[in-house]
Amino acid sequence: MPKEIEVKSVLNKTQKRDSWFLDDYTVNLYSSCSFNCLYCYIRGSKYGTNLEQSLSVKTNAIEVLDKQLSNRAKKGQYGYIVLSSATDPYLQVEKKYELTRQALEVIARHRFPVHIITKSDLIERDFDLLHKIDQNAILPHDLQSSPGRGTLISFSFSTLDEKVAGIFEKGATKPAKRLKALEKAIRDGFHTGVSLMPLLPFISDTSENLTLFFSIFKALNVSYILPATLTLFGNGSADSKTLVMKAIRAHFPQLEERYIRFFQEGYQMPPYYQKAFAKKMKELCEEYKIPGSITAIDKPD
Ligand code: SF4
Repeated sequence: MPKEIEVKSVLNKTQKRDSWFLDDYTVNLYSSCSFNCLYCYIRGSKYGTNLEQSLSVKTNAIEVLDKQLSNRAKKGQYGYIVLSSATDPYLQVEKKYELTRQALEVIARHRFPVHIITKSDLIERDFDLLHKIDQNAILPHDLQSSPGRGTLISFSFSTLDEKVAGIFEKGATKPAKRLKALEKAIRDGFHTGVSLMPLLPFISDTSENLTLFFSIFKALNVSYILPATLTLFGNGSADSKTLVMKAIRAHFPQLEERYIRFFQEGYQMPPYYQKAFAKKMKELCEEYKIPGSITAIDKPD
């Protein structure tokens, strides 16, 4: 059972809007994340090895959000709210607590735009509210022409392979179900894209896998693709580097030496890899005619 906690603030104003996610604000209604991805950047001693065990529900979040958004709206400080930056807004417990649904009701009332980032198909439940936000949100001036929409939905994938997903993101909705939800979101008319964060080196970033990713997403007519390489932090028992390395040793022993070499010096893949990755993604986006950023979306007629 998750812990129930009360918070003083739930609306976080970002210092600078990230050009990838367009986040003027972030909202995390849960603390920690039962999707338990091994590569997750929130990992560390604070949450322990099994993120599900440290999951907390912010029971007064809706009331606090209502007050905070009301203050921002009075000052005309409209901007995209990203749900969520440090958890998934559609965890298993969302079915019971419905905090995300209630937060969307509040957001719709105050007319803020949203960017939902999720690995779950539970988002389909809230398409009604997301349509309302899409139609009525007040956008920041500089984003009125592109993306020009009140609701953005990004489905996050690190692989499409169910076995690989079962190793690296055990608690998340299976990729096949996520794909179905993505398809429905597009069919429903939402501006829907994909966050490939992170692609796993030599596992899901192979030419074969990239071709599969891009051809599937092109066929589905996604609005954008946001690809990124793997980052791994820390050497403690609950840190992402330790946990991913352990998984590589157990399931991909042939890659262990390479992974050790990549991450022995720091948290990022080496510069030559990053350069080649960026070039490859640019080429694929051009070849498949899929924008590589959200702001490349044209304003709807
Ligand atoms: S879904 Fe996102 S926040 Fe949750 S564990 Fe995975 S990477 Fe972390």
